[in-house]
Formats: sequence, C-alpha cells, structure tokens
Amino acid sequence: MPLIIMPALLPDWLNPDPWLTRARNTDTRAVQQALATECPGIAELAALLSPVAGEALERLAARAQLITHRQFGRTISLYVPLYLSDFCKNGCIYCGFAADRRRSRRRLERDDIIVEMDALKAMGFEEILLLTGERTLHADFDYVRASVALAAERFDLVAVEVFPMTHEEYHILAEVGCTGMTMYQETYDPVVYERMHRWGPKRDYQYRLETPARALAAGLRTAGLGTLLGLADPVRDALALFQHVQTLRKQYWRAGISVSFPRIRPQLGGFTPPFLVSDRFLVQVICAFRICMPDLPLILSTREPALFRDGIAGIGISKMSIASRTTVGGYHDGGAADDGQFKVNDNRSIEAFCTMLKSKELEPVFKNWDAVYRDIAQSA
Ligand code: SF4
Repeated sequence: MPLIIMPALLPDWLNPDPWLTRARNTDTRAVQQALATECPGIAELAALLSPVAGEALERLAARAQLITHRQFGRTISLYVPLYLSDFCKNGCIYCGFAADRRRSRRRLERDDIIVEMDALKAMGFEEILLLTGERTLHADFDYVRASVALAAERFDLVAVEVFPMTHEEYHILAEVGCTGMTMYQETYDPVVYERMHRWGPKRDYQYRLETPARALAAGLRTAGLGTLLGLADPVRDALALFQHVQTLRKQYWRAGISVSFPRIRPQLGGFTPPFLVSDRFLVQVICAFRICMPDLPLILSTREPALFRDGIAGIGISKMSIASRTTVGGYHDGGAADDGQFKVNDNRSIEAFCTMLKSKELEPVFKNWDAVYRDIAQSA
C-alpha cells in the first residue's frame, strides 16, 4: 500500500489554512476592496469566497461576466468526453467505476474507437477528452497511446483523463499527438483524501499532486485541474486549488492551465458527500476564480443541470462539454446517457445546447486550435 502523505510533508506552496481563516473573518470592506483591486491574488480570492461575499453574489457575477467577455469574447468552447474503458482497481468511494461496484465492464477495441471518434467528428467536435479508470491490464499505457494516436488523426486537440503516468510516458503521448491532460486532485485535504480513496494506486496523494507538473515538463501543452466539490471543506479546497494553479503557472508559464468545478453526482454505490455545495456557492466559487484569474479557462461539465449551465455560461465559465456519455462508447448508436461513472445532468443535443447559447448571444466554438500548430510545436 503506498505511503500516505502526512500534512507536515505537504509542499511549501500548499498551505490554504491562513487564507481559510481570512475567508471566515472577511467583512464587507474587504469584499469591496477585492472587487476593486487591479491584480487580485489569493487574499482577494479568500475574501470573495467568504460568507459576506456570498451575500453580494450579484456584484461578483456582474464583475465576473465583464471579465469573461473581455478575455474570451462572447464565446463558449465545446469539447466531448469519450470513455474508452471502465475497468478500474481503485476504491474511490464516490465513483460508479470503483472496483467494488457490481457492473459489467468493457473497453473499446480499436474498431469501436474509430467508430465512436468518427461519430463525434461528424457531430462537429474538434476537441476530445479520452478517459479510462486506473491503469489495468485491460487499459494500460500502450492502450492509451494507441487510442491517442487514433484521436490525433481526427481531432485538433486530444487530451487524456486517465491514470497518472511517468515523465517518459507523457513524453511518448505528446509525440503521438496528445496535447493535454486532466487530473483532479479530488481533495487537497490529505486526511480526507485517504478516507475517500479506500484502496489502489490512487491512494498515493503526493504522486497525484505532482502529476500535472510531470506532464507539462514532459511536453504536454495543457493541464486541467479541479477538486471534487463536496468531499471536504469546499472553501479550503478552492483555496488549495488556486495555490496549485499559481504554482504551475509560475513554473510552466507557456502551458495552458484550466480549472473545472465538478460537484458529486449520484452514482452506483450511493455515496453521499459530507459537504453540501449549493448552486449559489458554486456560482460564487466560479466568479471568485474568474475575478482573481481573469485569463484562466474555467470549465463546466454535464454533471450540472441544464438550467444551471444556461445561467452560468459566459458569466465565468468559458468552456463546456455537451452531448456527453459517461458510459464506455455509446455515441454512434445513441447508447444510454446514464449509469456510467456518474449520472449526466444535462442530456440536451448539441443543436439544442448551441441554440441556447446563441439565444444568450454566445457563440459556440468547436475549434480554437489547428492540428498543424501541434505538428509545428512538436518539430520545434
Ligand atoms: S474516480 Fe477514476 S480511479 Fe477512482 S474509481 Fe473512478 S474510475 Fe477508478
């Protein structure tokens, strides 16, 4: 069993507690100052995550919307996830794919992958996120590498949300066309992390924490971070996430860092999160991040219901998934949208979603990068 990191062994940059205290003791004046500051940082983030700031949510939203339109225009980038395999040997308590869930498991074979990718391409997507569970004999590095290569022949942007890899493995992935990776820390609280990850390689908190940096050092262009809101104190996790982003941005200033805000959804296993994350608080977190990191792409998935997604699109969020399946495959034959890793909450078609965006004068963007640049970057 991997060694579990003790709080005292956390890296120097990860220390959200002083800021958590500040968030709890913020007054109206500090919130006003945070909203007026030219270059906000973590002190301002703490103020904007406070209960007092929650009472001024409309002001936060107005400021966040202004910044989003200034930085990203009136656009929402779209991407789609493709689950390649649901085999897993981890015991994440909140996940429908955990090893102890009684379900039939499968992986997509080469021909299935091509059919699914071609179906997604026909829908107009130019950006794809490939997902698996933990590294297993069914879905190992070679399987992911071959899948990335197939995706790179079809899509301009190919990211993976799979198991943590070594520097060498990320380097090989970059060479076959992988442009980015996503790895949520789930929670930055090491004690809660240990409780939520009952067994398996994922229990190694520190290795996971270091994974985005390892991927960027190996040549991937983008890294997506996030915490699973509800596992631990969401204010503390949001502050720690901000510190993680700041650290990566300093070290890998040419890389693109993005952040997602997943909330726990009902799943096989029936786990109920210990912390309730209300719609209002989720909006507050998104707006606070937008105000304090104006150019950071902020992502919202179909975990959230249509009404919530419609409301927050363009206010702080700049990128969204749509038409998602959280089961393995299912795109070319219109398979079940539910009963996968978690229950999808927004089942609209691409057309319906784009119509909604346009009604809010937002432009859906399927392509904001061309594969030709990827090839140039690799040969440089
Ligand atoms: S969250 Fe990922 S690693 Fe954990 S059980 Fe689910 S698929 Fe496996």
